[in-house]
Amino acid sequence: MESGYKAMEAVDQKRISLNTATVRKQWNLRECIDGCVRHGIGGIAPWRDKLHECGVDEAARMISDNGLKVSGLCRGGMFPAADAAGRQAALDDNRRVVDEAVVLGAQCVVLVVGGLPEGSKDIAGARSQVRDGIATLLEYARSLDMPLAIEPLHPMYAADRACVNTLRHANDLCDELGAGLGIAVDVYHVWWDPDLATEIRRAGQERLLAFHVCDWLVPTTDLLLDRGMMGDGVIDIPGIRSWVETEGFNGLVEVEIFSASNWWKRDADEVLSTMIERCRTVV
Ligand code: ZN
Repeated sequence: MESGYKAMEAVDQKRISLNTATVRKQWNLRECIDGCVRHGIGGIAPWRDKLHECGVDEAARMISDNGLKVSGLCRGGMFPAADAAGRQAALDDNRRVVDEAVVLGAQCVVLVVGGLPEGSKDIAGARSQVRDGIATLLEYARSLDMPLAIEPLHPMYAADRACVNTLRHANDLCDELGAGLGIAVDVYHVWWDPDLATEIRRAGQERLLAFHVCDWLVPTTDLLLDRGMMGDGVIDIPGIRSWVETEGFNGLVEVEIFSASNWWKRDADEVLSTMIERCRTVV
């Protein structure tokens, strides 16, 4: 271990949350929950596709019956649209996401904020639609005590997934919009940012709502579906973890790996065992 890190405890399985995307091709939600229980994993972060397969109430019952924490619900966001009707539809859907997160007892709703509306080249306009969308949703989320976590995405997704690409931009939105809004730090999206340490410090404990891990492979062969297992790439994950923990973050470490050509093809129990081993040794 390099010097300079805050002394950190190894991440044991009770502190891991399984993002269901990690075994999206292999398991439905019930199987994800059973897998977590079998491996002693403490939390889960469902995507809405898995949730809707079995229904939100049933999902909430299965999750709480098995004593799992819900580190976040993936996902809300996608605010920008070409017209007012589109923006309204996005807001209506986002309110449903907040409602579902409340039923699940999720620790936050993760926001992938959206990119350019179809045909648009106006990224400043998209960003202002994101700001307005979050502001409106935040009133609703506050009334239900459900925190919203902006997840800045790597800039390669600015056009189609999220035009908030840095922690700094996310912090600016938190400054402007206030209580109830925080940040999900996903190492895959932010590891390259020279301001990362400064902006994690600026966020502080109150805003650091979620911590997602995987790794950046070299070369990366697919912009979306070629994430690596922790330890197989170039991200200094313990370094980033030490920064968020220095601020007081002590939540679950959520493992979120989209891997069409590797991990989605493996036996899901092998994926979970590997995840646990890597969290203990290289996270
Ligand atoms: Zn993430």
